[in-house]
Amino acid sequence: MSLLVVGSVALDDIESPSGARTGVLGGAACYFALAASYFVPVRAVGVVGDDFPKEHLDFLRARGIDVEGIYTSPGKTFRWGGRYRDSLNVRDTLFTELGVFDGFKPKLGDAHRASDFVFLANIHPALQLDVLGQVRSPMFNAMDTMNFWIEGTPAELKKTLGQVQCLIINDEEARQLTGEHNLVRAAAGIRELGPRIVVIKRGEHGALLFDEEGVFMAPAFPLEEVQDPTGAGDTFAGGFMGSLARERFVGSETLRRAMIFGSTLASFCVEEFGVDRMRTLEMGEIYARYSLFRSLTRF
Ligand code: AMP
Repeated sequence: MSLLVVGSVALDDIESPSGARTGVLGGAACYFALAASYFVPVRAVGVVGDDFPKEHLDFLRARGIDVEGIYTSPGKTFRWGGRYRDSLNVRDTLFTELGVFDGFKPKLGDAHRASDFVFLANIHPALQLDVLGQVRSPMFNAMDTMNFWIEGTPAELKKTLGQVQCLIINDEEARQLTGEHNLVRAAAGIRELGPRIVVIKRGEHGALLFDEEGVFMAPAFPLEEVQDPTGAGDTFAGGFMGSLARERFVGSETLRRAMIFGSTLASFCVEEFGVDRMRTLEMGEIYARYSLFRSLTRF
């Protein structure tokens, strides 16, 4: 099974109560690909500027990620800066410098067009639809979005939602998209727009899955120390899609296992800054924590 992700590749500046880092590897496509790479071969598609350090691509390659689809354009790599308040629940975006990401026009090669699983990370909904049209006959596709597109391009977003099987979104965005505060009603509203599967991420409160079987809840793993929540959502999506792709089947049981793998990967991501935890994380640790999830909720 091959898994394709299209999205941002970034250099991030991050400040949290635990410290600060500048120019670290980030972007939705990177967090997603790193998490998913524990399960299946991943192909990442994105754009970087000519200032992008080669060592970052080497790291992605070392995790078995195909980076052929990350092309270099003359100019600056997308840069994003965020600062977390003491609670870690509130994040202020300090800056967003699009650089070459502004002209991002994903053009898939032959191998990429044959991908079985596709994840459209947070990019313009018209681009998401264009990418989807380029993939020949994916077995399963899913997308993310953000408040910027919900407010700015609602018609294009609805058109794209009409073509995807799964939306993975955070709670505030689900409310904004549907005008429903209640998440059960919000998920039902999203399902009416197209996706038959809706995953609503709730940060430290876990994630909810809505499908034909009803609702399933995955807790967030209770951690004693969180250093940096950046990328937890994309990492969740990577674990979720990677697990599904490895099982080669999307059904109520595989979806529920995927929710727990998503939560597991996200819980590791926040333990260190940026993608650093993925530099040392081993599959054995993932399985051990996945098993602990059982004891968290069994009674
Ligand atoms: P998250 O913590 O899930 O919101 O993901 C944070 C990552 O998203 C960071 O690595 C950023 O580089 C990236 N990011 C921030 N803003 C955007 C944007 N407007 N479009 C695409 N990626 C973004």
